[in-house]
Amino acid sequence: MTRANVKSQQVPDVSTQRAAGRVEGGENSAPRALTSELDGTPPNGVPLAAVSTVPAKITTPDQAAELEAADSKYVMRPWTHPAGEPVIVARAKGCVVTDVHGKDYLDFTSGYFVNNAGHCHPRIVEAATQQLTQVLQVSGKHGTIAAIRLAEKLMSLAPKSIHKAFFTTGGSESNEFALKMARQASGKTDVAYLENAYHGLTVGAIEITHSEPYRKTAGRPLGDFSYPVPNAYCYRCEHGVDNCATQCLDTMEDKIKARPNTGALIAEPIQSVGGLAPPAKWWDRVEQIRRKHGLLLIIDEIQTGLGRTGKMFGLDHYGLEPDILVGGKGLSGGVGSLGMACASDAVVAKFFGGTTPTSGGNAVSAAAGLALIETIVEEGMIDNAARMGRYLTDAFWALKDPWIGDVRFIGLLGGVELVSNRDTKEVLPKKAISAIKDGLHTAGMLITVSGTLGNVLRLQPPLSITAAQCDLLIAAVAKTLAAVRST
Ligand code: PMP
Repeated sequence: MTRANVKSQQVPDVSTQRAAGRVEGGENSAPRALTSELDGTPPNGVPLAAVSTVPAKITTPDQAAELEAADSKYVMRPWTHPAGEPVIVARAKGCVVTDVHGKDYLDFTSGYFVNNAGHCHPRIVEAATQQLTQVLQVSGKHGTIAAIRLAEKLMSLAPKSIHKAFFTTGGSESNEFALKMARQASGKTDVAYLENAYHGLTVGAIEITHSEPYRKTAGRPLGDFSYPVPNAYCYRCEHGVDNCATQCLDTMEDKIKARPNTGALIAEPIQSVGGLAPPAKWWDRVEQIRRKHGLLLIIDEIQTGLGRTGKMFGLDHYGLEPDILVGGKGLSGGVGSLGMACASDAVVAKFFGGTTPTSGGNAVSAAAGLALIETIVEEGMIDNAARMGRYLTDAFWALKDPWIGDVRFIGLLGGVELVSNRDTKEVLPKKAISAIKDGLHTAGMLITVSGTLGNVLRLQPPLSITAAQCDLLIAAVAKTLAAVRST
């Protein structure tokens, strides 16, 4: 069942965008300096707070070297990163971060998709500062004005199937609570998830918690109780997008039928890894399948939520009405960490949670999160995300670069899939992708690489980004791709 008011809103069709002209501030607008945002204006024309006091060098060269040495000595970073990273950030404002050497970067990671209103937005800083003097933390056993107001706001924005919020301390933890809720409400153990899915990296702590009530109702880690079902990677669809009759979902239905103890399906409305937006008919059929087999729907909006896709939630593109809605990242406004697992009254009635997480719903994070939501709405940033997504799409296709196989922006979620051959869609070799990452880093662009095949430049800036700042990225990508190709 879908919400009538949003049912007609379709996910942007890339081919239409490709054909469309570029939007305001387009080809003719000259790139400005990276720091233009510091004295520039956001989409609604309201000047940002003056930050002209940012010094050219944040620390002396000796202090910067000492900080970097201390970082590599004391801080674990159990992943690989391109040359020049980690960037030790001394200051950040809007879409620009400045490292300890005074070098500016345009942040196409938004502090890992948290700072949707831009770094250190004055309204968020103000809201958090005010809250700091009132009350900080009381645990979920009691309440704070900030957490209540945030829950109220979220419920006014969420689909009508969602009634109450349970606050946690972050994304992965919220998904764990969502799984518990689904098992308790359905009385079933199994959970289906989409191929290519990412929902967090924690290990079930309950396995080392000696409490039968917790273990019995929800506790065992999923292990064999979870299984993947097909996602919608339309660019590489074996049936061909032009012949789409959602054939991939026949397999989904077969798998779900074969596992009668399945209680829930968990999915992002649009897969963030690789920026994969299913066509509306895909979600329509998933809805039919999951209702036919009595599955609860858990929608993970940790990355797609809060304006990122050009709508408040990613599910608004499809009119989905989940039983459980999960959020995180920007929900804290970037102040501390805050997550949520929200649910329908029917699910809430069967939820047995316990008094953790101890620090869930921190009042300062909640006040900042509420300010973030108000800011992205009142300063037109959600519409700006939709506009800049179209702008980037058209600009990347206009490059006609032989390595750009697909351009997928839904608002400011997604990026560019790189191939060595546009006809065969052969993935660009890892070595070239590494060199491109390094080149963009040197050019002052903070980006990440993502996708099932590790070949998608993920480009997800704050929702306040300007066309001129997008032009800087496009120029840097064009130059870098050509330079790597010529080596
Ligand atoms: N789900 C999605 C869709 C995410 O993008 C992330 C974080 N990248 C998580 C869950 C996990 O969130 P966290 O890192 O805050 O635990």
